[in-house]
Amino acid sequence: MLALEEQKRLENNLEIVRERIRSAAKRSGRNPDEILLVAVSKTISTDAMAALVQKKVYDFGENRVQELLEKYDILEERCKWHLIGRLQTNKVKHIIGKVAMVHSLDRMSLAEELQKRAYAAKHIVDVLVQVNISGEESKAGIPPAELLPFLRKVSQYTNIRVKGLMTIAPAADDPEDVRWVFRDLKKIAVDIQMENIDNIAMHYLSMGMSNDFETAIEEGANIVRVGSSIFGQRSYPATTVFR
Ligand SMILES: *Cc1c(COP(=O)(O)O)cnc(C)c1O
Repeated sequence: MLALEEQKRLENNLEIVRERIRSAAKRSGRNPDEILLVAVSKTISTDAMAALVQKKVYDFGENRVQELLEKYDILEERCKWHLIGRLQTNKVKHIIGKVAMVHSLDRMSLAEELQKRAYAAKHIVDVLVQVNISGEESKAGIPPAELLPFLRKVSQYTNIRVKGLMTIAPAADDPEDVRWVFRDLKKIAVDIQMENIDNIAMHYLSMGMSNDFETAIEEGANIVRVGSSIFGQRSYPATTVFR
């Protein structure tokens, strides 16, 4: 159980984030109900997560398979799990059937493993393809120029369903500085849509985090991944890669 004070703090943060999502959606002529908030709960206790569930947040983002599995055993039936961090191929077998969506398909070897494990489990796994728009070396993701051939290959994998794209913008003090990243991802999604590739849908654009989710929504995000604005600061940077 959470202390009442802590519960109130989380509920208050959540309400502020929801209000900011609503205003950003309205500003850009969008329906706020079309925007899914994924609460990024890495390092956060299941008690704190349960407080959000009470407020009808069911979608949680984790970047470590081990942590996701531990929390799954506690909160499973009430939640949908989003794997948002780099996924090692040797962990894939543990998550098939458990995650609602993998946001971080970023290489062919991972697609192969997802296909193999999903096929064996008679399951279809929903994924987003991570695109490295900014070109930063430290960022995972398919370079935009390689995306179309990548998608054409993945489209042949019958147990993987591509539902859209994901990107992580560079860290910036002013979100205006990374607006172009979101705009580019949206443009790329529109272009891909026009290719009409079997098995490849562009329903979702997963972009925007605590620092920049409003800008991302204005540019077309319909999934935002928000951690610290809800739960408070973690002790390490947002996109630290765990292995
Ligand atoms: C940690 C993380 C987030 C959330 O970051 P905040 O800045 O805390 O909102 C979003 N997406 C990914 C991929 C992350 O690793």
